[in-house]
Amino acid sequence: MTETVERHEFGAEVGRLLDLVVHSLYSDREIFLRELVANAADAVDRRRFEALTQAVPALPENAAVRIIPDKAARTLTIADPGIGMTKDELAANLGTIARSGTRAFSQSLAEAKPGDRPSLIGQFGVGFYSAFMVADRVEVTSRRSGSEEAWAWASEGQGSYTLAPAERAEDGTDIVLHIKADAEEFLEPLRLQTIIRKWADHITIPITIARDGK
Ligand code: ADP
Ligand code: MG
Repeated sequence: MTETVERHEFGAEVGRLLDLVVHSLYSDREIFLRELVANAADAVDRRRFEALTQAVPALPENAAVRIIPDKAARTLTIADPGIGMTKDELAANLGTIARSGTRAFSQSLAEAKPGDRPSLIGQFGVGFYSAFMVADRVEVTSRRSGSEEAWAWASEGQGSYTLAPAERAEDGTDIVLHIKADAEEFLEPLRLQTIIRKWADHITIPITIARDGK
């Protein structure tokens, strides 16, 4: 079989940004879940919209964002039936910084009161990278709605990421976090439920939290 895994370097900006997010927001790291669930909900909204306006299949019935902790594997998965990403979209959305520079972000971080820091992540459009506050490896498997192919993006947050062909039965995205040894609290369903209740009450799609590994 030919080797189909491609390795790509993050832009220098992304590397610095990852460092900043991981090290300056440590005490607020539970917000990674808010960011990933918000992304999942955005993706579902986009699919709903494109199903009306473009050749994108409608959302399945009982569509939900699923949060699945697995203590034995030490993974936390956030799965959504949303719009998904093509290979190019994975590289563009998860490998570059679309909106604002690292400098502006770090300046705002330095100037913000500690309590205001978590909201900066959302404002600067860097929510996805907050996954690396609790994970030492992140795997994203995605199938763009309306396309037949799935792709896998993976990174240890250390300067590069890989892209490879993958399988996914349905349209949408799985984010698999390999949880750091000091972040195992985020494999506890009750802890996850508390975070969701606190941060995600405005999300309109149902959110389910699986019991361990189910
Ligand atoms: P923002 O949500 O503010 O744009 P993020 O860093 O949270 O910034 O996410 C970057 C981009 O990655 C999103 O704009 C979106 O295009 C893409 N993305 C992230 N998660 C998902 C997902 N679950 N499904 C589809 N696209 C996603
Ligand atoms: Mg986001």
